[in-house]
Amino acid sequence: MDKLNILIVIDNEDASVLGDRPLSKHWNIYWYSVDYNNLYEKIPLLKELIYKNNINLILYSRNDQVGNRIKIGSITRSLRVGYSSFSGIDEKYRVAEMKQCFEDFMNPPRRLNFEIDDRKYSKLLTEIFGKINYSSVKNNEESTFTLVFDVEQLGGVRYGLPRILYILDIFDIKATFFVTNFVKKIYYNVLEEIRNRGHEIGIHGLYHEYLSNYNKQVQEMLIHKMISDFGGGISGANFIGRMNKDTLHALVNNGIQYFVHPLINSYRLFSYRKIPAFPQVFQISGKEIWMLPIAVETYGLPFLSIKNMVNSALKISRKHGINHLTLLLHDFRDGNFSHIQTTVKLIYYLIQKGLRPIMLKDVISEFSERKKFYVSLDDEIFSQSSEKISPPMSKEDFIGFIPENLINLYKFFRWKYEIF
Ligand SMILES: [Zn+2]
Repeated sequence: MDKLNILIVIDNEDASVLGDRPLSKHWNIYWYSVDYNNLYEKIPLLKELIYKNNINLILYSRNDQVGNRIKIGSITRSLRVGYSSFSGIDEKYRVAEMKQCFEDFMNPPRRLNFEIDDRKYSKLLTEIFGKINYSSVKNNEESTFTLVFDVEQLGGVRYGLPRILYILDIFDIKATFFVTNFVKKIYYNVLEEIRNRGHEIGIHGLYHEYLSNYNKQVQEMLIHKMISDFGGGISGANFIGRMNKDTLHALVNNGIQYFVHPLINSYRLFSYRKIPAFPQVFQISGKEIWMLPIAVETYGLPFLSIKNMVNSALKISRKHGINHLTLLLHDFRDGNFSHIQTTVKLIYYLIQKGLRPIMLKDVISEFSERKKFYVSLDDEIFSQSSEKISPPMSKEDFIGFIPENLINLYKFFRWKYEIF
């Protein structure tokens, strides 16, 4: 990667904690200090700074899990720029974690220690389920699930990822991790740590940039860069919300076999969205690429919500003969201390239902043996189409009605803030 132009958007309080603004030989750094409560009003100004200084990515000092929990996702989306964060992920240790991640950012490359305190985590697991013999829980059904993790924030890698990897080892689950090249540049052993445990790595952008900002040729070159920096051996890509039709050409020309696409079965007014999650095949310039749908996103939601979404999504998919469920998680959310119990509960729940964990690259081989669904290439899948609202039909729809609508109502009035 060339020397990146990075705009550090730092909360005033965090700026006073970090003190002076050192220069770095690794990056061209630009600073913007602001009260995060007013971040949304500063979008036009940020746009100007990004344009003027040819900024590649924004680096936030806080994510949506700590401090005033300002949603940074929608800000990045309206700026259509790359992003990462050196935010702490655990409210209680936020400041210390932030300082550490900032230091890592200033002095790369770093080798991270992924060993974690066994006793502490065994205690946590015992607290959740009592004395369970985890290895005795066996999955015997034909149905499968995939856990997908997006890895893009420094605090997520340093603090969340080791916990996640530890839990996956306990349950003997192999998962798929979409990693940006930016985090690998800072924590150079992150890929080998994930791969050595048997998990799959996919691409997620050099620095979470918007591929759709570029033409086909540039996209192809960027994807090539991502793959070769990871040493090859990549089957899949996650560019949700950041890709277009040209991206599919750029992906197949780089030998990528699949990309993920959100078909989230979240709650809408009276019912969970009922979208069967068909893996589909696109034919592009004589080659094939799979679209693998994500049916459930945790997004820090309470366990009841996630459980309902899982059951609703499974029902609708099974009705269409699909026995697979893909779930999207984030290390900085699902791996922080306020959500990690829910994460363990969720994994245990999926296994108890008899679902067998597989990685996304294996979904393709399993589905290739069945009937393939070919679809024609059009732009529609990348634009959010409006859908009709359906009445409650299933048990989950009724159970979800009050809690889900309360959550949505609360979200509506606190749109700037993440609530979980
Ligand atoms: Zn991401």
